Amino acid sequence: MVKPRSRCPKCENSIAWYDNIPMVSWLLLGAKCRHCGVPISWQYPLVEAITAALFLFVYWRFGITLATPVYMLLSASLVLVTFVDLTDWTIPNEVTFPGIPLGLALSLVAMFYPESNLHVEGNLLPVFDSLLGVLLGGGSLYLLDKLSLVLLKKRGMGFGDVKLLAMLGAFFGWPSVIAIIMIASIIGSIVGIAYILYQKTKGDTEDAHYLPFGPYLSVAGLVVMFFGQQIFNFYFDFMIASPPSMM
Ligand SMILES: [Zn+2]
Repeated sequence: MVKPRSRCPKCENSIAWYDNIPMVSWLLLGAKCRHCGVPISWQYPLVEAITAALFLFVYWRFGITLATPVYMLLSASLVLVTFVDLTDWTIPNEVTFPGIPLGLALSLVAMFYPESNLHVEGNLLPVFDSLLGVLLGGGSLYLLDKLSLVLLKKRGMGFGDVKLLAMLGAFFGWPSVIAIIMIASIIGSIVGIAYILYQKTKGDTEDAHYLPFGPYLSVAGLVVMFFGQQIFNFYFDFMIASPPSMM
């Protein structure tokens, strides 16, 4: 579980501010606790570095608008979701439960205050599209889970994934949900194939265990957050440039 370290998990000594500077302290202390020498996971500085890079990118992309603090919070949450899902195989409700109403509320803001830069590409009526996004996001993965249970006799997604996609639907609307599912599936397939090939080279024939889907959904959510506009422009330009033939 990735959480802010205010205390050493082993000797329980509280960590002074000068030993808690993101990334810098970890390097200076040689990845060890100052008091007892217990190794500090490389995950902490990695999470901090990725979050810091995303914050910079959000500021560069959205400038001084309401969207910047909102998307910084969302980026940090999605990084957290990714690492918690990778280590604990669960998606924290602490993120998704407040995230769904927050996303819906922000779609109202986007509707009446376009300068907020809370982009909702492909959406006609932000609030309506966000509500549909929650239903489509939550519903589609829920159905997939049930279908997988019936057809493959094993669970597909956990409910954490359902709530996560519902949350992304609330933030970005239903057209983005479709884009997120497609992007997450593409990344998931590439990683999945690489994982199977890696297992083959190890001679490991063991069946693939539970593969968390949360990280793929999170990365896809970030892609849509940053490049949603470009994705929809590309899609509609493509559709107009080569309209499907009606024979
Ligand atoms: Zn310690």
